[in-house]
Amino acid sequence: MKISNIECFPLRANLDSAIGFSQWYYHAKNNLLVKVTCEDGTVGWGECYGPSLAIASAIEHHFKPKLLGCNPLQNERTWNLMWRAYHDFNRGGIFMAAISGLDIAFWDIKGKALQAPVRTLLGGSDDPIECYATGMYFREDKAEEEMLEELLVEAAGYIEEGYDFLKVKIGKNVDFDRELVSEFRERFPDVKIAADSNHAYNFKEALDMAQLLESLDYSWFEEPLAPDNIGDMARLRESTTIAIAAGECEQTRFGFERLARAGSLDIYQPDIAYCGGLTEFQKIAAVASAAHVDVVPHCWGLKLNQAAAASAISMLPENPGRFERRTVYLEMDRTEHLVRDSIFSQAHKVEGGKLYFNDLPGLGVELDEAAITSFLVDTDAVNKDSHAK
Ligand SMILES: [Mg+2]
Repeated sequence: MKISNIECFPLRANLDSAIGFSQWYYHAKNNLLVKVTCEDGTVGWGECYGPSLAIASAIEHHFKPKLLGCNPLQNERTWNLMWRAYHDFNRGGIFMAAISGLDIAFWDIKGKALQAPVRTLLGGSDDPIECYATGMYFREDKAEEEMLEELLVEAAGYIEEGYDFLKVKIGKNVDFDRELVSEFRERFPDVKIAADSNHAYNFKEALDMAQLLESLDYSWFEEPLAPDNIGDMARLRESTTIAIAAGECEQTRFGFERLARAGSLDIYQPDIAYCGGLTEFQKIAAVASAAHVDVVPHCWGLKLNQAAAASAISMLPENPGRFERRTVYLEMDRTEHLVRDSIFSQAHKVEGGKLYFNDLPGLGVELDEAAITSFLVDTDAVNKDSHAK
Protein backbone atom coordinates (compact mmCIF):
# COMPACT_ATOMS: atom_id res chain seq x y z
CA MET A 1 0.00 0.00 0.00
CA LYS A 2 1.45 3.37 -0.99
CA ILE A 3 0.51 6.98 -0.26
CA SER A 4 -0.28 8.79 -3.50
CA ASN A 5 -1.57 12.16 -2.24
CA ILE A 6 -1.90 14.31 0.88
CA GLU A 7 -4.25 17.31 1.05
CA CYS A 8 -4.92 19.84 3.81
CA PHE A 9 -8.30 21.40 4.56
CA PRO A 10 -8.15 24.43 6.89
CA LEU A 11 -11.72 25.09 8.00
CA ARG A 12 -13.32 28.00 9.76
CA ALA A 13 -16.74 29.08 11.00
CA ASN A 14 -17.58 32.27 12.83
CA LEU A 15 -19.38 31.93 16.14
CA ASP A 16 -22.76 33.54 16.74
CA SER A 17 -21.56 34.48 20.22
CA ALA A 18 -17.94 34.81 21.30
CA ILE A 19 -16.79 32.42 24.02
CA GLY A 20 -13.92 33.10 26.36
CA PHE A 21 -11.50 31.44 28.72
CA SER A 22 -8.59 32.74 30.75
CA GLN A 23 -6.40 33.64 27.75
CA TRP A 24 -8.68 35.04 25.04
CA TYR A 25 -12.13 35.08 23.44
CA TYR A 26 -12.93 32.93 20.44
CA HIS A 27 -14.91 34.64 17.70
CA ALA A 28 -14.51 31.69 15.32
CA LYS A 29 -13.56 28.03 15.40
CA ASN A 30 -10.61 26.99 13.24
CA ASN A 31 -9.72 23.39 12.45
CA LEU A 32 -7.41 21.50 10.14
CA LEU A 33 -8.26 18.22 8.43
CA VAL A 34 -5.73 16.20 6.46
CA LYS A 35 -6.73 13.71 3.77
CA VAL A 36 -4.35 10.93 2.82
CA THR A 37 -5.09 8.99 -0.37
CA CYS A 38 -3.46 5.70 -1.35
CA GLU A 39 -2.73 4.30 -4.80
CA ASP A 40 -5.55 1.75 -4.42
CA GLY A 41 -8.06 4.53 -3.65
CA THR A 42 -8.21 4.03 0.11
CA VAL A 43 -8.64 7.34 1.92
CA GLY A 44 -7.82 8.18 5.52
CA TRP A 45 -8.62 11.37 7.41
CA GLY A 46 -6.67 13.00 10.20
CA GLU A 47 -7.10 16.11 12.31
CA CYS A 48 -4.49 18.48 13.73
CA TYR A 49 -4.86 20.61 16.86
CA GLY A 50 -3.27 24.04 16.73
CA PRO A 51 -2.82 27.01 14.35
CA SER A 52 -4.25 25.47 11.21
CA LEU A 53 -2.50 27.41 8.44
CA ALA A 54 0.94 27.00 9.98
CA ILE A 55 0.40 23.26 10.46
CA ALA A 56 -0.93 22.92 6.90
CA SER A 57 2.24 24.58 5.66
CA ALA A 58 4.39 22.09 7.59
CA ILE A 59 2.45 19.22 6.03
CA GLU A 60 2.41 20.58 2.47
CA HIS A 61 6.00 21.78 2.27
CA HIS A 62 7.87 19.42 4.56
CA PHE A 63 6.14 16.11 5.30
CA LYS A 64 4.19 15.48 2.10
CA PRO A 65 7.26 15.21 -0.17
CA LYS A 66 8.81 12.67 2.19
CA LEU A 67 5.64 10.60 2.64
CA LEU A 68 4.53 10.06 -0.96
CA GLY A 69 5.20 6.41 -1.78
CA CYS A 70 5.39 5.33 1.90
CA ASN A 71 3.23 2.54 3.30
CA PRO A 72 0.72 4.01 5.80
CA LEU A 73 0.12 0.57 7.35
CA GLN A 74 3.65 0.74 8.72
CA ASN A 75 2.68 3.49 11.13
CA GLU A 76 5.65 2.99 13.49
CA ARG A 77 8.12 3.10 10.65
CA THR A 78 6.40 6.08 9.04
CA TRP A 79 6.20 7.95 12.38
CA ASN A 80 9.92 7.46 12.87
CA LEU A 81 10.65 8.59 9.35
CA MET A 82 8.77 11.86 10.05
CA TRP A 83 10.42 12.20 13.48
CA ARG A 84 13.96 11.66 12.19
CA ALA A 85 13.49 13.82 9.09
CA TYR A 86 12.94 16.93 11.23
CA HIS A 87 14.27 15.82 14.60
CA ASP A 88 15.77 19.26 15.28
CA PHE A 89 12.36 20.93 14.91
CA ASN A 90 9.89 18.17 15.79
CA ARG A 91 10.45 18.17 19.52
CA GLY A 92 7.53 20.49 20.18
CA GLY A 93 4.94 22.66 18.48
CA ILE A 94 3.69 22.92 14.91
CA PHE A 95 5.66 20.08 13.38
CA MET A 96 4.48 17.56 15.96
CA ALA A 97 0.88 18.72 15.43
CA ALA A 98 1.41 17.99 11.72
CA ILE A 99 2.76 14.51 12.50
CA SER A 100 -0.25 13.93 14.78
CA GLY A 101 -2.84 14.56 12.07
CA LEU A 102 -0.95 12.49 9.52
CA ASP A 103 -0.58 9.62 11.98
CA ILE A 104 -4.34 9.70 12.75
CA ALA A 105 -5.02 9.43 9.01
CA PHE A 106 -2.64 6.45 8.72
CA TRP A 107 -4.55 4.65 11.48
CA ASP A 108 -7.82 5.40 9.68
CA ILE A 109 -6.35 3.87 6.51
CA LYS A 110 -5.03 0.89 8.45
CA GLY A 111 -8.48 0.19 9.87
CA LYS A 112 -10.12 0.48 6.46
CA ALA A 113 -7.47 -1.72 4.82
CA LEU A 114 -7.81 -4.40 7.50
CA GLN A 115 -11.60 -3.92 7.81
CA ALA A 116 -11.37 -3.33 11.55
CA PRO A 117 -12.16 -0.39 13.84
CA VAL A 118 -9.10 1.49 15.09
CA ARG A 119 -10.04 0.69 18.70
CA THR A 120 -9.80 -3.02 17.82
CA LEU A 121 -6.35 -2.53 16.27
CA LEU A 122 -5.31 -0.74 19.48
CA GLY A 123 -6.64 -3.62 21.58
CA GLY A 124 -9.53 -1.64 23.02
CA SER A 125 -13.09 -2.61 23.86
CA ASP A 126 -16.40 -1.76 22.21
CA ASP A 127 -17.99 -0.58 25.46
CA PRO A 128 -19.67 2.83 25.38
CA ILE A 129 -17.48 5.69 26.62
CA GLU A 130 -18.75 8.02 29.35
CA CYS A 131 -18.38 11.67 28.43
CA TYR A 132 -17.97 14.84 30.42
CA ALA A 133 -19.42 18.13 29.19
CA THR A 134 -16.92 20.88 28.46
CA GLY A 135 -18.56 24.27 28.24
CA MET A 136 -19.37 27.17 30.55
CA TYR A 137 -17.03 29.54 28.67
CA PHE A 138 -17.04 33.23 29.56
CA ARG A 139 -19.40 35.59 27.74
CA GLU A 140 -17.81 38.69 26.31
CA ASP A 141 -20.85 40.89 26.47
CA LYS A 142 -22.17 40.04 29.94
CA ALA A 143 -21.56 41.39 33.42
CA GLU A 144 -20.19 38.73 35.76
CA GLU A 145 -23.35 38.18 37.82
CA GLU A 146 -25.52 37.79 34.74
CA MET A 147 -22.92 35.60 33.07
CA LEU A 148 -22.63 33.27 36.07
CA GLU A 149 -26.38 32.73 36.06
CA GLU A 150 -26.21 31.92 32.33
CA LEU A 151 -23.40 29.43 32.91
CA LEU A 152 -25.46 27.69 35.58
CA VAL A 153 -28.41 27.44 33.21
CA GLU A 154 -26.09 26.07 30.50
CA ALA A 155 -24.81 23.43 32.92
CA ALA A 156 -28.34 22.44 33.95
CA GLY A 157 -29.05 21.76 30.27
CA TYR A 158 -26.16 19.30 30.01
CA ILE A 159 -27.28 17.52 33.17
CA GLU A 160 -30.78 17.32 31.72
CA GLU A 161 -29.28 15.62 28.64
CA GLY A 162 -27.67 12.95 30.81
CA TYR A 163 -24.20 14.25 31.64
CA ASP A 164 -23.09 13.61 35.22
CA PHE A 165 -19.72 15.35 34.87
CA LEU A 166 -19.08 18.98 33.91
CA LYS A 167 -15.93 21.02 33.34
CA VAL A 168 -16.05 24.73 34.06
CA LYS A 169 -13.64 27.48 33.07
CA ILE A 170 -11.87 29.56 35.72
CA GLY A 171 -8.94 31.97 35.52
CA LYS A 172 -10.96 35.13 34.77
CA ASN A 173 -10.08 36.79 38.05
CA VAL A 174 -9.63 35.27 41.47
CA ASP A 175 -12.74 36.74 43.10
CA PHE A 176 -15.04 35.70 40.27
CA ASP A 177 -13.43 32.25 40.06
CA ARG A 178 -14.06 31.62 43.75
CA GLU A 179 -17.69 32.66 43.39
CA LEU A 180 -18.15 30.53 40.28
CA VAL A 181 -16.78 27.27 41.68
CA SER A 182 -18.70 27.74 44.96
CA GLU A 183 -21.96 28.54 43.20
CA PHE A 184 -21.62 25.54 40.87
CA ARG A 185 -21.10 23.18 43.78
CA GLU A 186 -24.03 24.66 45.69
CA ARG A 187 -26.33 24.44 42.65
CA PHE A 188 -25.18 20.94 41.61
CA PRO A 189 -24.26 19.05 44.80
CA ASP A 190 -24.39 15.57 43.23
CA VAL A 191 -22.57 16.20 39.95
CA LYS A 192 -18.87 15.64 39.26
CA ILE A 193 -17.18 18.92 38.37
CA ALA A 194 -13.67 19.75 37.19
CA ALA A 195 -12.22 23.27 36.90
CA ASP A 196 -9.79 24.43 34.20
CA SER A 197 -7.78 27.65 34.53
CA ASN A 198 -5.80 27.22 31.28
CA HIS A 199 -2.58 28.18 33.10
CA ALA A 200 -3.92 31.44 34.52
CA TYR A 201 -2.50 31.45 38.06
CA ASN A 202 0.73 32.01 39.88
CA PHE A 203 1.69 29.49 42.55
CA LYS A 204 0.03 31.20 45.53
CA GLU A 205 -3.20 31.80 43.64
CA ALA A 206 -3.21 28.19 42.47
CA LEU A 207 -2.58 26.94 46.00
CA ASP A 208 -5.48 28.99 47.30
CA MET A 209 -7.78 27.73 44.51
CA ALA A 210 -6.67 24.11 45.01
CA GLN A 211 -7.68 24.31 48.67
CA LEU A 212 -11.09 25.71 47.76
CA LEU A 213 -11.68 23.10 45.04
CA GLU A 214 -10.62 20.38 47.44
CA SER A 215 -13.13 21.58 50.03
CA LEU A 216 -15.85 21.63 47.34
CA ASP A 217 -15.01 18.07 46.25
CA TYR A 218 -14.08 18.92 42.65
CA SER A 219 -12.75 16.07 40.53
CA TRP A 220 -9.63 17.77 39.19
CA PHE A 221 -7.87 21.11 38.86
CA GLU A 222 -6.73 21.49 35.24
CA GLU A 223 -3.74 23.57 34.11
CA PRO A 224 -3.38 25.53 37.34
CA LEU A 225 0.06 26.85 36.33
CA ALA A 226 2.14 27.59 33.24
CA PRO A 227 2.90 24.40 31.28
CA ASP A 228 6.64 24.79 31.80
CA ASN A 229 6.35 25.38 35.54
CA ILE A 230 6.63 21.69 36.30
CA GLY A 231 8.42 22.23 39.61
CA ASP A 232 5.62 24.34 41.10
CA MET A 233 3.06 21.89 39.73
CA ALA A 234 4.78 19.16 41.73
CA ARG A 235 4.75 21.40 44.85
CA LEU A 236 1.06 22.13 44.30
CA ARG A 237 0.29 18.45 43.81
CA GLU A 238 1.94 17.62 47.14
CA SER A 239 -0.07 20.29 48.95
CA THR A 240 -3.55 19.06 48.06
CA THR A 241 -5.67 15.95 47.61
CA ILE A 242 -7.39 17.37 44.53
CA ALA A 243 -6.03 15.76 41.35
CA ILE A 244 -3.77 18.08 39.34
CA ALA A 245 -4.30 17.62 35.58
CA ALA A 246 -2.51 19.02 32.52
CA GLY A 247 -0.89 18.01 29.26
CA GLU A 248 -2.88 19.51 26.39
CA CYS A 249 0.18 21.72 25.68
CA GLU A 250 2.59 18.77 25.95
CA GLN A 251 3.84 16.48 23.20
CA THR A 252 5.62 13.15 22.77
CA ARG A 253 6.67 10.53 25.28
CA PHE A 254 9.71 12.68 26.06
CA GLY A 255 7.60 15.64 27.17
CA PHE A 256 5.42 13.47 29.39
CA GLU A 257 8.46 11.66 30.74
CA ARG A 258 9.76 15.04 32.01
CA LEU A 259 6.43 15.56 33.79
CA ALA A 260 6.68 12.03 35.21
CA ARG A 261 10.20 12.57 36.50
CA ALA A 262 9.17 15.81 38.22
CA GLY A 263 6.08 14.16 39.75
CA SER A 264 4.03 17.12 38.51
CA LEU A 265 0.64 15.60 37.79
CA ASP A 266 -2.05 13.12 38.77
CA ILE A 267 -3.68 13.15 35.32
CA TYR A 268 -2.03 13.47 31.89
CA GLN A 269 -4.19 15.06 29.21
CA PRO A 270 -2.47 14.55 25.84
CA ASP A 271 -4.44 15.64 22.79
CA ILE A 272 -4.17 12.91 20.12
CA ALA A 273 -4.22 15.57 17.38
CA TYR A 274 -1.22 17.37 18.92
CA CYS A 275 0.82 14.99 21.11
CA GLY A 276 2.07 12.85 18.20
CA GLY A 277 -1.03 10.96 17.05
CA LEU A 278 -2.20 7.53 18.13
CA THR A 279 1.20 5.95 17.55
CA GLU A 280 2.83 8.30 20.05
CA PHE A 281 -0.18 8.28 22.38
CA GLN A 282 0.43 4.60 23.07
CA LYS A 283 3.93 5.44 24.27
CA ILE A 284 2.66 8.34 26.39
CA ALA A 285 0.15 5.94 27.96
CA ALA A 286 3.06 3.60 28.77
CA VAL A 287 4.98 6.49 30.41
CA ALA A 288 1.86 7.31 32.44
CA SER A 289 1.39 3.70 33.48
CA ALA A 290 5.02 3.42 34.61
CA ALA A 291 4.59 6.66 36.59
CA HIS A 292 1.24 5.47 38.09
CA VAL A 293 -0.57 8.45 36.62
CA ASP A 294 -4.03 8.52 35.01
CA VAL A 295 -4.60 9.52 31.38
CA VAL A 296 -7.67 11.49 30.32
CA PRO A 297 -7.13 12.71 26.73
CA HIS A 298 -7.79 16.34 25.93
CA CYS A 299 -10.21 16.64 23.01
CA TRP A 300 -11.06 19.96 21.40
CA GLY A 301 -12.00 19.90 17.76
CA LEU A 302 -13.98 17.82 15.32
CA LYS A 303 -15.50 14.36 15.42
CA LEU A 304 -12.31 12.87 13.98
CA ASN A 305 -10.27 13.84 17.01
CA GLN A 306 -13.20 12.78 19.15
CA ALA A 307 -13.16 9.33 17.51
CA ALA A 308 -9.39 9.09 17.99
CA ALA A 309 -9.71 10.02 21.67
CA ALA A 310 -12.58 7.57 22.23
CA SER A 311 -10.57 4.80 20.53
CA ALA A 312 -7.59 5.64 22.75
CA ILE A 313 -9.70 5.62 25.91
CA SER A 314 -11.11 2.21 24.95
CA MET A 315 -7.67 0.65 25.45
CA LEU A 316 -6.30 2.61 28.40
CA PRO A 317 -5.09 0.49 31.31
CA GLU A 318 -6.42 1.20 34.78
CA ASN A 319 -4.14 2.77 37.31
CA PRO A 320 -3.72 0.53 39.26
CA GLY A 321 -7.10 -1.15 38.64
CA ARG A 322 -9.70 -2.80 40.85
CA PHE A 323 -12.83 -4.91 40.53
CA GLU A 324 -15.10 -1.88 40.26
CA ARG A 325 -13.62 0.06 37.35
CA ARG A 326 -12.99 3.76 37.56
CA THR A 327 -14.36 5.61 34.56
CA VAL A 328 -12.08 7.40 32.12
CA TYR A 329 -14.24 10.13 30.66
CA LEU A 330 -14.10 11.47 27.12
CA GLU A 331 -14.05 15.25 26.83
CA MET A 332 -17.13 16.40 24.92
CA ASP A 333 -16.95 20.03 23.82
CA ARG A 334 -20.51 21.32 23.96
CA THR A 335 -19.82 24.83 22.68
CA GLU A 336 -21.15 26.09 19.35
CA HIS A 337 -19.29 24.50 16.42
CA LEU A 338 -20.94 24.68 13.02
CA VAL A 339 -18.09 22.85 11.22
CA ARG A 340 -18.09 19.94 13.65
CA ASP A 341 -21.84 19.60 13.36
CA SER A 342 -22.04 19.92 9.54
CA ILE A 343 -19.27 17.98 7.80
CA PHE A 344 -19.65 14.39 8.96
CA SER A 345 -21.94 11.93 7.22
CA GLN A 346 -21.02 9.20 9.72
CA ALA A 347 -19.83 9.40 13.33
CA HIS A 348 -20.15 7.56 16.60
CA LYS A 349 -23.45 8.31 18.31
CA VAL A 350 -23.34 10.53 21.39
CA GLU A 351 -26.45 10.37 23.53
CA GLY A 352 -27.28 10.81 27.17
CA GLY A 353 -23.68 11.66 28.06
CA LYS A 354 -22.20 8.56 26.40
CA LEU A 355 -20.46 7.78 23.13
CA TYR A 356 -21.57 4.57 21.43
CA PHE A 357 -19.13 3.15 18.88
CA ASN A 358 -20.41 2.22 15.44
CA ASP A 359 -19.00 -0.80 13.59
CA LEU A 360 -17.35 1.04 10.72
CA PRO A 361 -13.74 0.17 9.94
CA GLY A 362 -11.08 2.80 10.65
CA LEU A 363 -11.94 5.65 12.97
CA GLY A 364 -15.66 5.24 12.32
CA VAL A 365 -16.27 8.70 10.87
CA GLU A 366 -16.97 9.67 7.27
CA LEU A 367 -16.67 13.15 5.80
CA ASP A 368 -19.19 14.90 3.60
CA GLU A 369 -16.65 16.46 1.24
CA ALA A 370 -19.23 18.74 -0.37
CA ALA A 371 -20.04 20.20 3.05
CA ILE A 372 -16.37 20.90 3.73
CA THR A 373 -16.02 23.32 0.84
CA SER A 374 -18.24 25.98 2.39
CA PHE A 375 -15.95 26.22 5.44
CA LEU A 376 -12.60 26.26 3.63
CA VAL A 377 -10.37 29.12 4.72
CA ASP A 378 -9.52 31.58 1.98
CA THR A 379 -5.77 31.59 2.51
CA ASP A 380 -5.44 34.79 0.46
CA ALA A 381 -7.50 36.60 3.03
CA VAL A 382 -5.91 35.16 6.14
CA ASN A 383 -8.07 35.87 9.14
CA LYS A 384 -7.32 38.69 11.52
CA ASP A 385 -7.94 36.51 14.53
CA SER A 386 -4.30 35.97 15.40
CA HIS A 387 -5.30 34.18 18.58
CA ALA A 388 -7.27 31.46 16.78
CA LYS A 389 -6.10 28.11 18.07
MG1 LIG B 1 -7.96 22.42 29.29
